[in-house]
Amino acid sequence: MNLASAREVRDESRAGSRSLHVTLDEVFGRIDRFDGDLQAMAFVDREGARRRADELEAKRKRADELGTLFGVPLVVKSNLCVEGWETNCGSRLLEGYRPPYNATVIQRALDADAVLIGCAHMDEFAMGSSGENSAFASSKNPWDLQRAPGGSSSGCAAAVAAGYVPLALGSDTGGSVRQPAALCGVSGFKPTYGRLSRFGLVAFGSSLDQVGPLARSAGDLELALEVLQGSEGKDPRDATSIATPPAPPENTSLRGLRIGMHRQAFSGAGVHRGVRDRVEEGFERLRAAGAELVEFELQRSELAIPTYYVIATAEASSNLARFEGVRYGRRVEGDGSLAGMMASSRARGFGAEVKRRILLGTYVLSEGYREAWYEKALETRRAMGAEFARAFASLDLIVSPTSPTPAFRLGERTRDPLAMYASDVMTVPASLAGLPAVSVPCGTVEEAGVRLPVGLQFTAARGADAFCLESARLFEETGDAWQGPPTITSP
Ligand code: GLN
Repeated sequence: MNLASAREVRDESRAGSRSLHVTLDEVFGRIDRFDGDLQAMAFVDREGARRRADELEAKRKRADELGTLFGVPLVVKSNLCVEGWETNCGSRLLEGYRPPYNATVIQRALDADAVLIGCAHMDEFAMGSSGENSAFASSKNPWDLQRAPGGSSSGCAAAVAAGYVPLALGSDTGGSVRQPAALCGVSGFKPTYGRLSRFGLVAFGSSLDQVGPLARSAGDLELALEVLQGSEGKDPRDATSIATPPAPPENTSLRGLRIGMHRQAFSGAGVHRGVRDRVEEGFERLRAAGAELVEFELQRSELAIPTYYVIATAEASSNLARFEGVRYGRRVEGDGSLAGMMASSRARGFGAEVKRRILLGTYVLSEGYREAWYEKALETRRAMGAEFARAFASLDLIVSPTSPTPAFRLGERTRDPLAMYASDVMTVPASLAGLPAVSVPCGTVEEAGVRLPVGLQFTAARGADAFCLESARLFEETGDAWQGPPTITSP
């Protein structure tokens, strides 16, 4: 038994052919059955969801008032503020923190009649690529419980892949929606920077952070984007949010599109053979659908990871300064002085990766090093953005693998931060340039006797979010539609 797509759940719930409580029975049934092993969920609000289902059932008769996500069960990453829920960002420091308000995207989902199910585990403060930096639990990959689901939106990807819910909301700073989506065999979208409001998303790297949906299909991602951006797009509570552009003419075919194959991303060393093969097959499917594929080379692409890790850590060191034991979360008294309390709260509250990044970020911003590191990184970022803009003058899309490898084993990269950072090599360029990018499933590879999904990433020009998703949807139609969750076997 398998919960339907978000669109189907919505249509059937609106029509009354599906009871919202039956949907919830399915959701909770799967969570009860699998989450002991998977550990995707940090918190499940059963009572809240049941109350909400009652409210929505009562509203159903008013047919013209039923929202775009009517009855759709939704899981959220635990760095998105939900009024009254513990929003701990996978950190001890925020244990017990309950925001008194909803993030704008959460409010919009609720206004569209979605049903909030609970929040999902994540890497602490969204820093990581495997879920293993969570202070509470590291989620498992439903395709192989010995492997990481990717990160940092780890629990969200696992929850969608395992068929708990058809839709989840994560956040993507350097790939945290796209990479776990790829490793778990679902679709995940990072919009143009500013497309979705960041109000109520706990900040990591503010110039990079974007909320992004994860679902089973690009079609459901389109539905989510429509709701989350709202009719205006611009949120007065987020100065960096941008107005929703008028809907572009519908793109009904891949025929005639000029698509750049990101050369270094699929031919470079470190790209898994099977990933390369699946991606080449993806290119073939695009060609067969009438697209023209040309080579695309990103100059200085080897600088993407260092540039990202300078900028993201610099911003994180500043953003995380607010967590000092006074205003949010947990306080550790220390030696009784104010400075001692702040130092102990941070020393006990933050995990190793977060501390590493605060140190690195403070270093690259410090007097004398700022020009050498931070400003150079900003320069490289600008140059990369300009290069993408030039490329999109003659290209409609750029395709690459989403991740150089399929899901890796838990523990495999935890002792080598640089190996972990390399997981993001394909996703950070679009983040640095603020471009929309989506990962969709593109076949599977076999590793040590298990089947593991591969993701294909489509990147589009700034602002071309709808076009990006529509193209991904058309690609999905050429094969590889969602076939239900993998068989989840306990170790
Ligand atoms: N894995 C990347 C990092 O650790 C990206 C994280 C993210 O997108 N939030 O920074």
